[in-house]
Amino acid sequence: MSELPKAYSPGDAERRWYPFWEEKKYFHARVADGKRSYTIVIPPPNITGVLHMGHVLNNTIQDIFIRWRRMQGYETLWMPGTDHAGIATQHVVEKSLLKEGKSRHDIGREEFIRRVWQWREQYGGTIIRQLRTLGCSCDWDRERFTMDEGLSAAVQEIFVRWYEKGLIYRGKYIVNWCPKDHTALSDDEVNYSEQNTHLWFIKYPIIGSKEFALVATTRPETMLGDTAIAVHPNDDRYKALVGKMVSLPLTNREIPIITDEFVDPKFGTGMVKVTPAHDPNDYWIGQRHNANIGQRHQMPFINILDPSARLNENVPKKYQGMDHLEARKSVVRDLETAGFLLKTEPYVNSIGHCYRCDTVVQPYLSDQWFVKMKPLAGEALKVVLDGKIRFYPDRWVRVYEHWMSNIRDWCISRQLWWGHRIPVWYCTNPSSKDDRCKEPIVSKSAPSACPHCKGNQLHQDDDVLDTWFSSMLWPLSTLGWPKDNPDLRYFYPTNTLITAPDIIFFWVARMIIAGIDVMGEVPLPDGSPRNDVDQKIPFRDVYFTSIIRDGKGRKMSKSLGNSPDPLDVIAEYGADALRFTIVYLAPLGQDVLYDNEKCELGRNFANKIWNAGRFLLMNKDQIGIAPDPGLSELHLDLADRWILSRLHSTIEDLNLALDRFEINQATKILYEFIWHDFCDWYVEMIKARFYGDEPADVKKILVSRAIRIFDQALRMLHPFMPFVTEELWQHLEERTSGESIIVAPFPVCGKKWIDKKTENEMAFVQNAINSVRNVRGELSVPPSKEIELVVNFSDRAKEEIIRKYQSYFQRLARVVKIDSLNGGAKPKHAASAVVDGGEVFIPLEGLIDLDAERERIRKELTRVQGMVDGIKGKLSNQSFVNKAPKEVVDKEREKLESFRATMLKLQNNLDHL
Ligand SMILES: [Zn+2]
Ligand SMILES: [Zn+2]
Repeated sequence: MSELPKAYSPGDAERRWYPFWEEKKYFHARVADGKRSYTIVIPPPNITGVLHMGHVLNNTIQDIFIRWRRMQGYETLWMPGTDHAGIATQHVVEKSLLKEGKSRHDIGREEFIRRVWQWREQYGGTIIRQLRTLGCSCDWDRERFTMDEGLSAAVQEIFVRWYEKGLIYRGKYIVNWCPKDHTALSDDEVNYSEQNTHLWFIKYPIIGSKEFALVATTRPETMLGDTAIAVHPNDDRYKALVGKMVSLPLTNREIPIITDEFVDPKFGTGMVKVTPAHDPNDYWIGQRHNANIGQRHQMPFINILDPSARLNENVPKKYQGMDHLEARKSVVRDLETAGFLLKTEPYVNSIGHCYRCDTVVQPYLSDQWFVKMKPLAGEALKVVLDGKIRFYPDRWVRVYEHWMSNIRDWCISRQLWWGHRIPVWYCTNPSSKDDRCKEPIVSKSAPSACPHCKGNQLHQDDDVLDTWFSSMLWPLSTLGWPKDNPDLRYFYPTNTLITAPDIIFFWVARMIIAGIDVMGEVPLPDGSPRNDVDQKIPFRDVYFTSIIRDGKGRKMSKSLGNSPDPLDVIAEYGADALRFTIVYLAPLGQDVLYDNEKCELGRNFANKIWNAGRFLLMNKDQIGIAPDPGLSELHLDLADRWILSRLHSTIEDLNLALDRFEINQATKILYEFIWHDFCDWYVEMIKARFYGDEPADVKKILVSRAIRIFDQALRMLHPFMPFVTEELWQHLEERTSGESIIVAPFPVCGKKWIDKKTENEMAFVQNAINSVRNVRGELSVPPSKEIELVVNFSDRAKEEIIRKYQSYFQRLARVVKIDSLNGGAKPKHAASAVVDGGEVFIPLEGLIDLDAERERIRKELTRVQGMVDGIKGKLSNQSFVNKAPKEVVDKEREKLESFRATMLKLQNNLDHL
């Protein structure tokens, strides 16, 4: 039965078809020799995540590409999964512990990790369920998690390999340190608040001169750890001083004046003190300075604090053992006494506090693990510059190049419990006299004994790896690396990565690095070696998604409450409507301004398609279809030739737009074809023939043809609006139980159908009909009234077309008779319109009450004139224009323009009468 319900119900279609697709395994990808593969790995959402509008955009785009390629006959794999999200997840579980009045330290590491797994069991799948609601066709049989056994093995493998190659090392790094909890804090574990404090200006005598270097600081006690003064290399005031030494007050040390780009010449005196062990910016100044070969002085990193933020043995005796705040007072007093303190100014500073105990956080040097990035970055940069990996939009290439050319070593250890524990053990055998026992033991599995002293007192490194260390391996590890296996050979390299641009370095760059580094060892599907870097890179195209803002242009955030819950939107408008709308609103590389109401666009579109489908199916029932599908090329009139030409142009344009990643252009192409060409014009035009007096056989051919074109349109639209298209497609013909539009071949452009002459002819007919309709509308001609036309074209062929397709004018504009002016006088009391260089007259006598209409128009003119005067008055009032917000004034100006245009039209209509 092809009868459709009157209205489209998105919820019903969503509930019906998603389980059907899953059950039939349409999402599942298998190695298929001789078939091209197309792979996307999902940017794994955090297990703590819930679906937000950013996910909607990102995953809709992925699904569009996957469904499109699947219909094109590729073996498509969309690899789904989640990220363990170290810090975010640990926080959530710590918070729930806090409700029991406990900290993670109270229950211990093992129990805490058990609780996190338990939490993940319960809540970690939320976002995956939500992606199903959106219609995402991920291969759920392959769902992965970054802490899975296989993925953890990949993490250990690469750590050990890179360590053995000398790419991973242990070194000092400046961290946020809580002196009370004795732990490092990650950046998001530090709460900043503004506090009133002081800025102290200290004079450092320049050796061999009577002058001083003047610096300002909010933490004067740290001067005891200063190891340089820095100025900007282009600061002409200080050029002569660079390389000179200054004497560090209160100590007997001398420190050099150096240059660094980081120094802002406009801030303060343009000179800064450098304390590399106690300030993150200074830490990097020190790193840069020491990395510069040929420096006269290597800059030492002097740590002046102990883990409780008391001053240690590296400062003069007098201050040793003081708490850092006590030391601050003492240092300031001593500087003042000795004449080194120039002045003190009040200052508001943003100070970091521990999120747990609120203690002031200290920048502190500690032991951390690093990856040397320079040796890895070169090739990863080259593949992007060479275009082997392409970025959309391509402006990201410059950003990537800049970062990769200035890459720093990557600190990969985190002082957390939830994550991949660093595969390093230390020998703690107290009786060992073997010096080599101090060396860490790096191993994929827990060693049973120390390889040097054979002792079995081993302690694993307490830290875990940065979350990005495991997600860096995502395209590899989800396909089974480090095990060579058919999936990895066949689906790697993946094709398209769709991700937010803010993780280009955290994630995208590192995946490129890892892929190039390890994939040389995995053969191609035919067993030949993978020598070419093209085969080692993790993906070919990277599409960077837009940022979603609210209708006012503000970033969506929880605190503003302007971030809609996608599940609510889906419940209200349907998943298809949300998908179509959000992509329609997202031009490549530009922000999306989103409001829920905008989803009406997608909902109306779905309804329009639904109604067209109902119309066709009703006529299929009443008229029947042609027995031989080949017949559908017969009896082509202008509208048929035109819609076939438009269909094939649309197929071509759509495929091209998707090939070029112009995905919002793709939605516009579809909308234009389906809404305007097919529904508004073609369906209306064939109505004239369905209900006209052509033979039944011809009508059947018309029905068959219209259904075939509609079928093609549904297939093109399917990747964007999977549910409504499946629902309609299943009704178009009898389907067997396994059939689905999801695997129906994607339309292919038949060039022979594209016919520009026909499209031009049709455009002319459309213009003529539109202008008649406009006149009818403006003069309020009742819809039931039939009208006559008098046309005047110097181009005879145009009059011929109008005459030939009079039935369209009849159907679409209630025109019953068309005469030619033939050089005669223009008809009196007639409205007229200019169409493609000719004129169309519509005699109005007998059609409307001319007197009443004139009167109505005059009244309307007076009313609009009143509005114009009102706005003019407002706009000439200077205090209004100056005081009102700019949007308000602009709105008034817009209104004025539109009223003026209305008046012109009214005046024009009056003249015709
Ligand atoms: Zn603390
Ligand atoms: Zn040992």
